[in-house]
Amino acid sequence: MTDNRIRSIAIVGGGTAGWMTASALAKVLGRDYAKITLVESDAIGTVGVGEATIPQINIFNRMLGISENDFVRRTKGSFKLGIQFVDWGRKGHTYFHPFGKYGVDMEGVSFHAYWQRLYQDGLAPWIDEYSIQAKAAEFGKFMRPIDAGNSPLSQISYAFHFDAGLYALFLREYAEAAGVTRREGKITRVLQHGESGFIEAVELEDGGRIEADLFIDCSGFHGLLIEGALKSGYVDWSKYLPANRAMAVPCSGVEDITPYTRSTARDAGWQWRIPLQHRIGNGYVYCSDFISDEAVRETLLANLDGEPLAEPRIIKFTTGHRKRHWVKNCVAIGLASGFMEPLESTSIWMIQSGIARLLSNFPDRSFNPVDIDRYNRVITTETEEIRDFLVLHYKATERTDTPFWDYCRNMEVPDRLAEKIAVFENSGRCFRENEELFNDTSWFAVMTGQLMKPRTFDPVAQLLSLEETQSRLHQIQTAVTNSAEYMPKHRDFIRENCAA
Ligand SMILES: Cc1cc2nc3c(=O)[nH]c(=O)nc-3n(C[C@H](O)[C@H](O)[C@H](O)COP(=O)(O)OP(=O)(O)OC[C@H]3O[C@@H](n4cnc5c(N)ncnc54)[C@H](O)[C@@H]3O)c2cc1C
Repeated sequence: MTDNRIRSIAIVGGGTAGWMTASALAKVLGRDYAKITLVESDAIGTVGVGEATIPQINIFNRMLGISENDFVRRTKGSFKLGIQFVDWGRKGHTYFHPFGKYGVDMEGVSFHAYWQRLYQDGLAPWIDEYSIQAKAAEFGKFMRPIDAGNSPLSQISYAFHFDAGLYALFLREYAEAAGVTRREGKITRVLQHGESGFIEAVELEDGGRIEADLFIDCSGFHGLLIEGALKSGYVDWSKYLPANRAMAVPCSGVEDITPYTRSTARDAGWQWRIPLQHRIGNGYVYCSDFISDEAVRETLLANLDGEPLAEPRIIKFTTGHRKRHWVKNCVAIGLASGFMEPLESTSIWMIQSGIARLLSNFPDRSFNPVDIDRYNRVITTETEEIRDFLVLHYKATERTDTPFWDYCRNMEVPDRLAEKIAVFENSGRCFRENEELFNDTSWFAVMTGQLMKPRTFDPVAQLLSLEETQSRLHQIQTAVTNSAEYMPKHRDFIRENCAA
C-alpha cells in the first residue's frame, strides 16, 4: 500500500474562514501530517463584518482548547443570549428569539404546546416569560450556566459578539503557534493541471508560487479558486431573500452592554446592532431595488446609540451558494462557498460546519468522487434548511407599509417552508427535520414572534388538565423570573471575568 495521503494544504484567504480553517486543521491533523500554508493579502483585506454567533461556536472553541475568557477579552467581545426582533411581524411589536428551550417539556409534550393552549384562551403571558435567555436579556443580565438541578440557571445557552478583525488575529496567533505558515501576498494566477484541471499551484504578484495537494478557497466573495478557476457556478436565491447590500458603520458604545443582538425591521430590510466592549457594530441590510443608498445611510445614521466611528461602507452580495462547494482538489469555505444574509448569524456556523465535514470526509490524493459528492450534498442541504428559516422572517409578516414588505408577504416560498407554515397554522406544531440547524424551539419562537396564529392548539397538550397546566406554567414562570433576577448584570460579568 502506498502512502497516498495529503502532504500539503494551501488555504487561500485570511479572513474568519481562513484562520478558523487553519486553526482547526492544525489542531486536528497535528504538525506532521501535512504542511499547511495560508496566503492572504493585506492590500485586499477582509470583509470586516461578521460579529455575531450562535451557541455552536462553543464547540469550536472547546475543540481548539482555547480559554473562553481569554477569547472574549482578546476580541473585545460580549455575550449573546439570542436576538431581539423589533417591528418585524408588525410595526411596534417586539419579540425575542432565545437560544435554549422555553420552560420544560412535560409528559413527553413540548412546553410550547402547553403554552399555546393557555395563550389562545388568554390564560398565559407572552412566551418570553418562560425563557431564561429572554428574561435575562430583558434585565441586561448574564452568567454561564451552573449545576443547579432543575433550575433555569442550569440551562443558560449563549454565544458571543466579537470584533471580526481581532478574532482573525487571535486565531492567526493560535494557528501559527500550531505550525501554520502565513504567506503575505496577492494571488494573480491559479495554475491547473492540463488534463485533470486539478489546481497545482497559485502564483503571487511578487513572483512567489505555492503548490499543494489540497486547496481551501477562503478568498471571500471572490471565490478565486472555486469560481475563478474551477467555474463551479452559483445558485441564486435572491427571489427568496431579496436583500443584496449592507451598509455597515460602527459607533461608540454605551455603558450597559446588552447581552443580545438587535434586529430592527426597516422600510426595505433591517438594521443590526451588535454590542461589543469598545463599540457597537451596526448595519442596514437592504434590497437596492426598493431603496436608495442615500435613504439607507440616512436611516442608519439616525438610529445609532453613539457617534459613528467611521464612514458607512456598502457591501454588495448575492444570496445563494456555489453549485458545488468542493470541486476536484479545492474546497470552498466561508463567503467563497456562498452567503445568506446575517439575520440569524449563521455564516460563521457554516464555516464551522464546512471544516467539520471536510475533516470527516478528509480526502487522500485520489480525491474519491464519492466523498466529494457526499460533502456537496450535505452542505447544500444544510444551506437550504437555513435559507428556509431566514425566509420565514420575511414571509410571516403583517406589514403592508412599503413595497418591500408587500413583496415579501406575497412571495412564493420553498416547498419545505410552505409545509412548515401550513402545519403550524393548523395546530401550532413545529418540527426539526433531520439534523437541521434550527430546532423546534427556534421555529416556534419565530413563527409565534412573527404573529402567525394557529387555528387551534396541539391536541396532546390536553394530557394535563387545564388547572394543572396553569399551575405548572406559573411555577416555571416564577422560577425563570427569580433566576434572571439572581444573575449578575452583563457588564459586571464581563468586568469581573473577561474585560478587554
Ligand atoms: C454585511 C454582512 C454581515 C455579516 N454578519 C455576520 C454575522 O453577524 N455573523 C456571522 O456568522 N456571519 C456574518 N457575516 C458573514 C461573515 O462576515 C463571513 O462569513 C466571515 O467574515 C468569513 O469571511 P471570509 O473569511 O470567507 O471572507 P473575507 O473576510 O472576505 O476574507 C477573504 C480573504 O481572502 C483574501 N484574498 C482574496 N483575494 C485574494 C487574492 N487574490 N490574493 C490573496 N488573498 C486574497 C483576502 O485578503 C482575505 O484575507 C456577515 C457578512 C456580511 C456581508
